[in-house]
Amino acid sequence: MKVIYDEAQKKHYPGFFLTSGARAPNPERPERADILFDAARKAGLIHAEPPDFGLAPAASIHTPEYLEFLANIHARWQHIALASDEVIPNIHPDRRDGAYPLSAVGQAGYHMADTSCPIGPQTFAAALRSAHAATHAAHLVAAGTPAAYALCRPPGHHAFRDLAGGFCYLNNSAIAAQRLREGTARVAVLDVDLHHGNGTQGVFYERADVLTVSIHADPVRFYPFFWGHADERGDGAGRGYNLNLPLARKTGDEGFVDALDRALGRIAAFVPGALVVALGLDAFEGDPFGGLSVSTPGFRRIGERIGGIGLPTVIVQEGGYICDALGDNLIAFMDGFRSAHRVPTERSLGSEP
Ligand SMILES: [Zn+2]
Repeated sequence: MKVIYDEAQKKHYPGFFLTSGARAPNPERPERADILFDAARKAGLIHAEPPDFGLAPAASIHTPEYLEFLANIHARWQHIALASDEVIPNIHPDRRDGAYPLSAVGQAGYHMADTSCPIGPQTFAAALRSAHAATHAAHLVAAGTPAAYALCRPPGHHAFRDLAGGFCYLNNSAIAAQRLREGTARVAVLDVDLHHGNGTQGVFYERADVLTVSIHADPVRFYPFFWGHADERGDGAGRGYNLNLPLARKTGDEGFVDALDRALGRIAAFVPGALVVALGLDAFEGDPFGGLSVSTPGFRRIGERIGGIGLPTVIVQEGGYICDALGDNLIAFMDGFRSAHRVPTERSLGSEP
C-alpha cells in the first residue's frame, strides 16, 4: 500500500489561532506531516509523490471565485496598511446570497468561516499539493489498486465549495470522492475525525450519488457547532444520503465502534463502488482537543472494521494533532485495516496498473 505525500505540503505554516477568544499557537503544524509520514513508513507503506494535476481536481469541487480568492488574497492583503501578516477575517456575512464584495477584507469574511484557517504566502500552494495527494490516491484506486493512503496536510473536511474553515482550505476527501465517481456510479465517504465533516457534507448535501457519513463529538457542545446534528439527512435529491452519528463527549472505544457498525451498515445498503475514509486521529483520548476517548488499540479495531467491508478504499488524512501517540495511532489503524482488507475482484474499478 502506498502513502502519497509531497514535502511541499509543509510550506503552509499557520501561526494564528484563537481558542475561546485567546490567541494561541496554531496546532495544525507542518511537524504533524513528519510524524504521520514516519508512522506510515513504519507501518510498511511505500512512498509515492503525487504529480502536479493543476487546478482541475480542486475545480471539480470548489467555485472559481473561491479558487481565485485563495490564489491571490495573500498578495492583495499586503497592500492594506497595518494589516496582519496572515489573512484573518474580522467580519462575516449573515447570509450568502447577498452581494460579493470587491474588498479583500470583505472577501476574507465571505470565504473564511472562522479564524483557524489563516492564509499565508504558501498556503494555497501547499493546499493544492495536499489535494494532489488525494487525487493521486484516487487515481491509483480507480485503476485497480485496492487501497491507498493520501497523507493530506493541510486537511480538508471543513472546507465547503467556497468556504475555508477549521484548518481546511481544499476538501481533499471530496476531491477524492469526485475522482472516484468517474469510474463508479456511487461513492461513500466515511468521516471518523473527532469533528463533524461539515464541508464534505455541504459539498454533497443535495446529491444521491455520494453518501456522506460522519461519526464525531456531538456539535451541540463542540466545533463545528452549526453542523453535524443527527437531523441533517440531506436535501432535495440527496435526502437520506447523509448520516450524522454524534457521540457524547469522552465516548470511548465501545461507543465509537457501535456507531461505526451503524455507519458501515448504511454504507453496505448504499452498495458503493468505492469508499473514501476521512481519517482523523483526533478522537484519541490523548489528543489535545480532548473530545472523545478512543484508545490506540481502538484505532486498530476501527481500521479492521473499515477494511472488513472490502471496498476499494482511499484513506485521506484529516485531523489528529501532536501528542505522544499520534504516529502509533496511524500505525494501529493501518495494521487493522490491512489485516482485514480484501477487495473481491468484481468490485475492482479497473484492472491492476
Ligand atoms: Zn478534527
